[in-house]
Amino acid sequence: MRFGGWQKSSLIDFPGKISVVLFTQGCTFRCPFCHNPGLVLPEAFSSESITEQEVLSFLERRKGKLDGVVISGGEPTIQKDLPEFITAVKALGFAVKLDTNGSRPSVVEQLLHENLVDYWAMDRKASLARYHILAGLAVDTSSILKTSELVMEATDAYEFRTTVIREYHSPEEIVQIGKELAGARRLILQQFRSAVTLDPLFQQATAFSGEEMELLCQSVRPYVGECSWR
Ligand code: SF4
Repeated sequence: MRFGGWQKSSLIDFPGKISVVLFTQGCTFRCPFCHNPGLVLPEAFSSESITEQEVLSFLERRKGKLDGVVISGGEPTIQKDLPEFITAVKALGFAVKLDTNGSRPSVVEQLLHENLVDYWAMDRKASLARYHILAGLAVDTSSILKTSELVMEATDAYEFRTTVIREYHSPEEIVQIGKELAGARRLILQQFRSAVTLDPLFQQATAFSGEEMELLCQSVRPYVGECSWR
């Protein structure tokens, strides 16, 4: 596992859990709005090295105080020893949440088969026809569909997430995302924050207001079980 950073305690990243959040290095996408270029661009990787043993020792010491581990990125499914690492984390008694961009369905299928993940958060960055714009490169959208289907069929413990940018997500685009996720249990719309972005041009992009985000949620509720924004 290659870790680029970690947050040692979080109340908001894993529903119902106090968790540690691990950020893996490397990603299959180049989303121009990405807030973590240091986890995506190899030339920007931090030289700080966090080892698996360091993480596992920390978890051992935090038993009873933390109860969840969020594995985020970057894109965690590109880490070759992800199943083995999750197995070691679960052996310590922690629940695991995995954040994924959905580009590696074969890995997701293996993790589902081995029942290694307790909660899934999967990105849905745009409607399928416009995916390349928000992922920053050409995307095989059949992989996105396949991962979505695998998770939806295997469990109820998941959410889809869309970071909403005013200049790139029209209200019609959000409805289209909702239609393409028809039957999904939960969609979270995330308000764009113009801090650090992978493409500096996206620092000029803007967010919808809270009131507008609520209206966007209302527009997809006919298609998904629940929608909220944050
Ligand atoms: S926002 Fe995009 S580029 Fe950044 S880590 Fe997530 S999938 Fe990768």
